[in-house]
Amino acid sequence: MLTIQNYIGGEFLSPLKNAWLDNYNPATGEVFAKIPDSGPEDVDAAVKAAAAAFPAWSRMPLEQRHDILRAVSDGILANLDRLAEAESLDSGKTVTTARTVDIPRAALNFKFFATALLHFASESHYMPGALSYTLRQPLGVVGGISPWNLPLYLFTWKVAPALAAGNCVVGKPSEVTPLTAYLLGEICRDAGMPAGVFNIVHGLGPRAGEAIVRHPQVKAVSFTGSTRAGAEIARIAAPMFKKLSLELGGKNPNLIFADCDYDKMLETTVRSSFNNQGQICLCGSRIYVERPIYERFRRDFVAQVKAIRVGDPADPGSRLGAVVSRMHFDKVLSYIDLAKEEGGAILCGGHAIEMSGRLAGGWYIAPTVIEGLPLECRTNQEEIFGPVVTIQPFDTDDEALALANGAPYGLSSTVWTNNLSRTQRLAAELQAGIVWVNCWLLRDLRTPFGGVKQSGVGREGGWEAMRFFTETKNVTLAE
Ligand code: NAD
Repeated sequence: MLTIQNYIGGEFLSPLKNAWLDNYNPATGEVFAKIPDSGPEDVDAAVKAAAAAFPAWSRMPLEQRHDILRAVSDGILANLDRLAEAESLDSGKTVTTARTVDIPRAALNFKFFATALLHFASESHYMPGALSYTLRQPLGVVGGISPWNLPLYLFTWKVAPALAAGNCVVGKPSEVTPLTAYLLGEICRDAGMPAGVFNIVHGLGPRAGEAIVRHPQVKAVSFTGSTRAGAEIARIAAPMFKKLSLELGGKNPNLIFADCDYDKMLETTVRSSFNNQGQICLCGSRIYVERPIYERFRRDFVAQVKAIRVGDPADPGSRLGAVVSRMHFDKVLSYIDLAKEEGGAILCGGHAIEMSGRLAGGWYIAPTVIEGLPLECRTNQEEIFGPVVTIQPFDTDDEALALANGAPYGLSSTVWTNNLSRTQRLAAELQAGIVWVNCWLLRDLRTPFGGVKQSGVGREGGWEAMRFFTETKNVTLAE
C-alpha cells in the first residue's frame, strides 16, 4: 500500500493528527494508497512555510525563477511514463490519454509561465507634469484548489502562474486523485525550488480545502471544481475580500449546421462528447443539429459511439477507461435513469459495463446517447460530467441560439458551420466564455480561459493569470 504525504516546507510529512483517507483505483475498485486527511493545523503549517519563503522567492532575479520553473517542466517530461501511469491508476483515464494529453500539458504549463514571467510588464501613463506607473506585485501566499478530472494538468495550470508571478503557494489537489500532485512535490524539490515556495496539502474539500480559503494569510484562491463548492468558497472568501478565480461546471452546447464539414464535425463530436469518459468541463453534452442533416448525423454518430471500446485503462487498445469513483459512477447512472423517467429514448449505451477478472470491481459506463428530451428537463439543465449526451434537431439560427443559451451554465460552446456571418453573430451572442468554431479543445495558452453564468468568475491563461496573481499599485511622480 502506497502512502502519500503532504509536502510542506520542502519535506514530506504525515498529517499532524495522523488521520488518513483511502485512495481507490477506479479500474478495479480497490484501495491502493492512503492519503492525508489534513486539517487546519496542516494548512497553517503550510501557510507558515510559504510565508517564510516569500521574501526570497519574490525578490529572486527573474532569470533564476525562470530557470527553476523551466527545470520543473523538464522534470515532468523526464517522468512522463511514470506520471502517466500514476494518473491512469488514480483516475481511471487511459494511460494513452494521460501520456498524450494530461502530462505533456502539465509540463507545458510550467514552461509557458516560466517564459511569461520574463516578459510580463506593466503600464505607465504620462501627462504634462506627472508620470504614473503601475507596479504589479506578487500577493504573498496564495491557494490553489483543483478537481479530479485532469488532475496534474489543472493543478499545474494554477500553481505555475502563481509561482511565476512571485507568490508562494499552498495547493490542494482533489482527494480523489492526489497521486501525481504528490509526485510533483519530488520533481519541484529536484528542480531546485527552495523549501516552502510550493506546499501541497492533501485532504477533503470541506476540511483541508476550506482551511486554505479561511486562512487569513492566504490572499487569493484559484479554484477549479463544481459550482456548488465554488459558491461555498465565494461565501467564505467574499467578506475577507480575497481575490477569487472560480472555474466551475458546464453544460456545453454543440451547434451543428448543415453546411459544416461533415466528416471533421462527426469525428470531433465523438471526441468532444466522450473523451476522458466525458469528464472534461469543456465536453459538449447538449448536441443540437440542423434538421436537414439530423437523421444522417443520428445514424452515423450512434454507429461510431457504439464502436468505442471501453476497457482496461492500461490497455492501449481501450479508447475509454473507468469513471473516477464509485460516487461518480452512481451519480452518472442515476442521471441515465432520470433521463428515462423524463421521457428520453436511449439510442446507445445507458448502462454500466461489467468487466471480468481483475477489473470486475471497476466503474465502467457505456457511452450513452439520448434523444427526445426538452430543454427544460433536468437532464438538459444539470451537469452530468460523464459519458452521456443528448441530441436534438433545430430549424433556425434563432432556435439554435435559444437552445444553446437556455441552460444556467456558460463555459464553452462549439459551432460547426462555414457561414461567416452566422459565425460572427453566434460568437457574439452565445453566453459562454469560450466559443470554438469548427474545432474543439484547440488551446492556445495565451488566450483567456473561463466561464460566465454558473460556470464561474474570472479568467485564467496568459496575462490574465499573471494579472490575477499580482496586485496593481499606481505610483504617480510629479515633475
Ligand atoms: P469539487 O467541487 O467536488 O472539488 C474540487 C476541489 O475542491 C477538490 O479539491 C475538493 O476537495 C475541493 N473542495 C470541495 N469542497 C470544498 C470547499 N467547501 N472548500 C474548499 N475546497 C473544496 O469538484 P470535482 O467533483 O472534483 O470536479 C468536477 C467539477 O469540476 C465539475 O463540476 C467540472 O465541471 C468542474 N471543472 C471545471 C473546470 C473549468 O475550467 N471550469 C475544469 C475542470 C473541472
